Amino acid sequence: MNNEEIKKVNIQELVFEIERHNRLYWKINKPEISDEEYDALIEKLRELDPENPFLEAVESSEVASLGKVVLNKPMISLDKTYFFKEAPKGKKSLLKWASEIIRSEEEIFLIQPKYDGISASYSNGILATRGQGTEDENVTDKIPLIELESKKYKGPLDRPVRGEIIIRNDDFKIIYSRIKKSDGSCYKNPRNAVAGIMGLKDIRQMLAQKAKLTLIDYDMISYSTAYKEIERKWTELLKEIESLPYPMDGIVIKLADKNYSESLGETAHHPRGQIAFKFSGVRKKTKLIGVEWSFGKNCLTPVAKIEPVEIGGVTICNVTLHNLANVEEKDIQIGDIVTVERAGDVIPHIVESEDGEERRNCIIFDCPSCHSKLYRNDKELQCINPNCFETNLQRLLASIRNIGIEELGEPTVRKMMNILKVKTLADIFRLTVPDILKLEGFKEKSASNLFKSIQVAKKTTDYKLLASLNINGIGQTSAKALLNKYTLDELKYLTIEQLQEIKQVGPTLSVSIYNFFKEKSEVLNELVQILNLLQTKGSSETSEQKTICFTGEMPEKRSYYEKLAEAQGFKAVSSVTKQLSLLVTSDKDSNSSKTQKSKSLGIEILSLEEWLDSLKENNADKENLDNDGLLPGF
Ligand SMILES: [Zn+2]
Repeated sequence: MNNEEIKKVNIQELVFEIERHNRLYWKINKPEISDEEYDALIEKLRELDPENPFLEAVESSEVASLGKVVLNKPMISLDKTYFFKEAPKGKKSLLKWASEIIRSEEEIFLIQPKYDGISASYSNGILATRGQGTEDENVTDKIPLIELESKKYKGPLDRPVRGEIIIRNDDFKIIYSRIKKSDGSCYKNPRNAVAGIMGLKDIRQMLAQKAKLTLIDYDMISYSTAYKEIERKWTELLKEIESLPYPMDGIVIKLADKNYSESLGETAHHPRGQIAFKFSGVRKKTKLIGVEWSFGKNCLTPVAKIEPVEIGGVTICNVTLHNLANVEEKDIQIGDIVTVERAGDVIPHIVESEDGEERRNCIIFDCPSCHSKLYRNDKELQCINPNCFETNLQRLLASIRNIGIEELGEPTVRKMMNILKVKTLADIFRLTVPDILKLEGFKEKSASNLFKSIQVAKKTTDYKLLASLNINGIGQTSAKALLNKYTLDELKYLTIEQLQEIKQVGPTLSVSIYNFFKEKSEVLNELVQILNLLQTKGSSETSEQKTICFTGEMPEKRSYYEKLAEAQGFKAVSSVTKQLSLLVTSDKDSNSSKTQKSKSLGIEILSLEEWLDSLKENNADKENLDNDGLLPGF
């Protein structure tokens, strides 16, 4: 064989290999390689034989076609990237790609989900999916199964559209649990079901079972953002897009300016003004091999043990499953195949799961520490035994963190509870150096250092003390707000009604505070005796209320932001004076008189986005707080 012939054989083998993986992926849902490896095979074929007709067809599943149709505008495939910012040598990241086509930092991009289904278009009564070359497959006979989801429209397919045929995740869960294939089995996942149904020559059986497909308009969900903002907004965008009820395998990013985009033209295979960011760069499938329930101060959190996977250079073995309700909703069991994602600064989490061959329930009923029956509280699993060692350890650790003894970590507190029979924060403050010396690992110097840091922590503020009492929903921020208005002593005698009148205290929180003072005030009294407390109410740090002024056009009414500001302890004012603490503007570069004046007075200026972000940070420790709508939009 000469070189040319060898190359031909290689190409044929490669095509054969890709076809095999296509079958594994689409038909029997048992892929042997990752999406990334699959795409590498395609790239190799493209290198060896750029004109291979097979390349045109590889990205769609086979459909049962009524025949070929020629569309005016061919459906095209997109270039892909697996990397957001940093990319290995020879590969291009999304940001790099964008930086090369922008005309300025202000260039606007549209960011849309990349649906994991079959791309299709509908016009003049004909529904078509992408075939080879310029010809498409006519699948008009599938219309009775299809519901269109478009901007402001949901219903029968009745208008021209380009989009993707998919099965919504919620439909799959509800409708497809009862729909049977002709062999009596069920579809394994939405992608598999779409491919299966679109491949049927006769859909009567599906119609009889009320199967439903969705054609989602590509333009229905679209976020627009300037180039310079992409990096800052990426994590949040990713989160938002992933929470949509559609199967997706990535995100499409394209230039918003269509004319400019078209003027860039196409490479041999892809338009230059668009790219797909594939999730497979940040996601991996793996097996769930166990679930551990880890103790927190209020509940037990399920943590998934997985067969280790490497994503973005980091090996992941444990993934949080958040809470009991999440495990139930996703029906996660040991043995399942889970898709783990690690992207941006979000902690690794499971985005989807498929039933494994052998499954084992992972929900527990008895406390792993004290073996008493666990109690369900809304979404969480709790141990309510007051003598539960692990729960008490976590509660004590939370108290220690809030009061601010930084040197005291879990291993030492565990020993203190075991050996010194320490139970409460007060017990810790009463420890002596000889006590600490009884703990394994402590010598004169380390014991005296720990003793000193405990003594230092005795001088503290009343709000840190209140936050350390483990009253449900009270963190440092809410404690501070309460003690700004009342002293600890005054707080003890407030009625539920009076408590509810305080900003940031909802009905749930006021009941917890009231009950605490009624039932457990001796815990507080004991600590007040030991500690050297600074009173928050009337202190110089907080007595001057910060003022805030808004300027410029904003998405919501002015009163909305003022209410938001007041809930955060600001006083909203309408004019700029030298007493103003903060100016929030829709445009920092604006020449408005308020902005100019604030600049000349040296007043802090934040953009609306920056300010809203700062609120989110402030509220991070108030997750459990019942805000009663004080923070709409969060
Ligand atoms: Zn327990």
